[in-house]
Order: sequence, then C-alpha cells, then structure tokens
Amino acid sequence: MTQHAAFGEGQPARTTQTSRASLRVPLGARDHLRTALALAEAGVPVLPLREGKGPFGNCHACTHGACGGRPNMKSAGTCHCPAPCHAWAAATTDPRVITSPAWAAAWRAAGVVGYHPAGCGLTVVDLDNARALDWARHTLPATRTVPTTRGEHWLYLGTMQSANAVRPGVDIKSRMVYARWLGPGTGTMTSLPSTARALVVKEEATPARAGVASSLPMRATWDRSVAHGCRHTERYIRTGLERGLAMVTAHTESGAGSQAFGVARFLAAQHTQCPGPCGLDAIGEEIVAAAVAVGVPEPYAQRAVANGLATGKEHAA
Ligand SMILES: [Zn+2]
Ligand SMILES: [Zn+2]
Ligand SMILES: [Zn+2]
Repeated sequence: MTQHAAFGEGQPARTTQTSRASLRVPLGARDHLRTALALAEAGVPVLPLREGKGPFGNCHACTHGACGGRPNMKSAGTCHCPAPCHAWAAATTDPRVITSPAWAAAWRAAGVVGYHPAGCGLTVVDLDNARALDWARHTLPATRTVPTTRGEHWLYLGTMQSANAVRPGVDIKSRMVYARWLGPGTGTMTSLPSTARALVVKEEATPARAGVASSLPMRATWDRSVAHGCRHTERYIRTGLERGLAMVTAHTESGAGSQAFGVARFLAAQHTQCPGPCGLDAIGEEIVAAAVAVGVPEPYAQRAVANGLATGKEHAA
C-alpha cells in the first residue's frame, strides 16, 4: 500500500473536492507518473497517453476486442487486463494499478497524462481554434479554462454524451472518452449549460430518452391540440423542440439559418411514422421565431425551415 491508497480508495471524491484538489497538481510537471498519482488522489481517473496524444495500443490479448472489452465499455466485456488497454476505459484512480509493472512501460513512453472527464463528474468543451474560442465566449458561460496548443479546454461541472465536431473546431469530451491533462487552468468551474448539451441534440433526443425533461425556460407554442395524429408524447415533442430552438439561438454570430434548416429536418423526421397531423407547422413557426431572434432575416428563416421540414418528412424515422 502506498500513501495514495488511503486517499484514493473507498472515498469517491465529490466534484468540488476534485476541483480544489486538482489545483495542487503542478502545471507542466515532467514526471507524468507523479502528476497522474496526484490527480488520482484528487479523484481524477487517469491513463498514460502517447507523445502524439493518442492512447497506447492494446496488448496482444486485447487486440481486436478478443477480450470482449472492459466492463465499463458500451459493449461491456469481462476484460481485467492489467495493462492500460482500451484507452479511456483503462483510466483509474487506483494507485496500485497506476504504479503497477503492467503500466510502467507506458508511463516511461508517455507524452502526456490523460484523464476520463465524466469519471470525475466533468465535461470538457475542447475549442480547437480562434474561431471556436470566439464562438464559446459569445455563447457559453464563463468557467475554468485550460490553454491547449491552439485553443482552450473549457471545463464544466456535470457529464454528458461525448461527440466530436459538434461545431467547427469544437469537441465535447465527457463520457467514454479521454482528455489530455494540460494543467489545472484558471477560473471558477460552473455547471454544464443547456447550450452545451444541445450541441449533441441528435443523439440525446432519441425515443429512449423521451422522458428527460428540458431545463430550458423557453416556452413552445406547439400544442397537443394541433397534433392529435401524433404518436409521440407531449413531453417528447417539447423536449426535442426546445433543444432544437436552443441550437438555433446558440448561433448568435452566423449559421443560425442553416441550423434552423437542420433542426426542422431533424424534428420532422421524427414524425414520418405518425398518422398525423403532428403540428409541424407550429413547430416550424417556433424555429423561424428563434432564428429571427438571433438575426436571421425572416424570409430566409421561413425558407430554411420549410425546406428542412420537407426534407425531414422524406426520411424514415
Ligand atoms: Zn490488454
Ligand atoms: Zn481487454
Ligand atoms: Zn408525430
């Protein structure tokens, strides 16, 4: 047992502890293993990453998923391989694993320490260039930021589904991914905003998640009474609509028109199996209003939404 075992075991760190404790980790530490152990003490699950940012390859037994994968993976298997196989899924706060012989070679060759953001209750909005940063400054609430090579990581409290390229130069890193540890950053961490969650609306607005209530204050004028032929629940429609509207209004600088088209197409495609009517006209008017509110000329918004609804209806749900 090392001194870290008493700290890291049986005492799951709350996020607030994580935030404060992480500040003690030295910025730019050369000793990756030492940094990793300090993070693990703070409740941050870590793994070694290569010089080129990527994870180390799987060992022979784990190659091509022969082991079935780790229990925490999407397609869960029973892999208990001692090596840092399966990228993010190997991330751990257990110092015995981190300092084990099976991890030693990877630490010696490591270029950077990686961590699993959702594993410590966080979401990283990875902004890869100046335009993405500019978008974030106009759209997302201020939070703790960490400088990266070309941009910044914005760290929020709360977890969500991860997705790459949700906008040009913007990745969401939270569940089932790793992020690079580039230092504790500066600023006060704030809660994950609904605008960030809305960036992956397509995946999260599936029927399986229809019961999720929207936290957005915006009130839709779509009404059940105009949709008596719709097979979806009112909550499902409102959640999808409000998330879509949030996506449109998040585009305060440019692209709100094409976003309106995409949202209309996505929402209309949900109703191709309904006998109808589903109140799609009312949904369309809501999207037009949201786009106009962020500066899209009304005729353009009308056209974009009408095209989106028409395109969506052609697709099988
Ligand atoms: Zn393995
Ligand atoms: Zn394995
Ligand atoms: Zn419907």
